Amino acid sequence: MSANEGNLIIEGVRILDPSRDLDAKGHLVVQEGKVTACDAGPAPEGGVDLPRVDAKGLVVAPGFVDLHVHFREPGFEDKETIETGSAAAAAGGFTTVVTMPNTSPAVDTAAVVHLVRNKGLAAGQCRVLPAAAVTHNLEGKSMCQYGDMVDAGAVALTDDGQPVRDAGLFRHVLEYSRILGVPVITHAEDETLSAEGVMHEGKWSTRLGLKGIPAAAEVVGVARDIELARLSGARMHVAHVSSRGALELIRRAKDQGVAVTAETAPHFLDFTDADCATYDSRFKMRPPLRSMDDQQALVEALADGTLDCISSDHAPHTPNEKEQPFDLAPFGVVGLETAFAACHDRLVRRGSFSLLDLVRLMSLAPARIIGSEGGTLRPGAAADFTLIDTETSWMPRERDLLSKGRNCPWLGRSLTGRVQATYLAGRLTHGQRWAQEAVAR
Ligand SMILES: [Zn+2]
Repeated sequence: MSANEGNLIIEGVRILDPSRDLDAKGHLVVQEGKVTACDAGPAPEGGVDLPRVDAKGLVVAPGFVDLHVHFREPGFEDKETIETGSAAAAAGGFTTVVTMPNTSPAVDTAAVVHLVRNKGLAAGQCRVLPAAAVTHNLEGKSMCQYGDMVDAGAVALTDDGQPVRDAGLFRHVLEYSRILGVPVITHAEDETLSAEGVMHEGKWSTRLGLKGIPAAAEVVGVARDIELARLSGARMHVAHVSSRGALELIRRAKDQGVAVTAETAPHFLDFTDADCATYDSRFKMRPPLRSMDDQQALVEALADGTLDCISSDHAPHTPNEKEQPFDLAPFGVVGLETAFAACHDRLVRRGSFSLLDLVRLMSLAPARIIGSEGGTLRPGAAADFTLIDTETSWMPRERDLLSKGRNCPWLGRSLTGRVQATYLAGRLTHGQRWAQEAVAR
């Protein structure tokens, strides 16, 4: 660690701090890993002697928070590791990620929670916060020791990758979660409806001759889980919402005071089931890409608050697995490194969202759901932030991905807005150029 690590002044930057509704040109001062000043106007001259970075033309935002990533470790290190996943997160501007427990072994004991946390600390690229399993080995049968896992650092409970089939058991899990003060994240799906489907059920699945997963598979799952959240009074977060029908239920539940929050993923905002016409498995995930009408509903729901935040659902697989024919390839796409740019293009450049709206959806809003202190540039906060060039167009290339996964649907597509640097507690985790400039001053 160099003497100056964790200390710097960023000048001439556009500050976007959703915790203060602040969008202004100003400066950010970081000392010993914490924000000590972040205000409109020029940085004070003299006084503290810190390395200065001229960030004219760039935006500084709180580090992004992703409530839904699969880092595959332990057990599937050929797909991703906590180290490679963390590097991909930093490259995407993320400083906090919540990892899903569908590993091998599953994150179903305090020991595995510790393992994931410690590997995250060792990688040192972002705050890796494990979500713990709802049932042993995600088998949907017996409950885990939630208190021990939360004490060990688990921030949420979920069997993500699949729903908890037993509604009675899920009700009790929600009741426990209330006592422990952590949200339950639900992968809402009726598997008897999704069955052997591989893409959204509609005119495209018919035309392509692929088995469909009806939107009803998600809607039925969300309907059940909302009733269980209502019954238990627990905080429930709906993962990767993809359909208009599910949004209508979530909107109504929120109006009625049910403690439900929800997210969608960047790929649902940028692609539809028509993209499956290439038979390219980079467009295969679960839930699947849905219709244009569903996509429109997702954008409206982000605008009216029905959806609280955006999570990547970063789900790497090995190239060999994904190179199989569409109907055989595993579900999942990688998205940490492209999430900001994809959403910036879709929601800000082509939509009616402000940059501050988008930053809120990717930082403060998800941080609040897990009770994390991230998502703010207020003085006193940890200096977790990202510097973004919102004007630059670029094309994600396979060889540039830091994730082990190659299954990224944005490869070869032009995106606008690129993360230039990411800092975790004032330490550079992505963007070598910035470190050199800071030292040169
Ligand atoms: Zn899921």
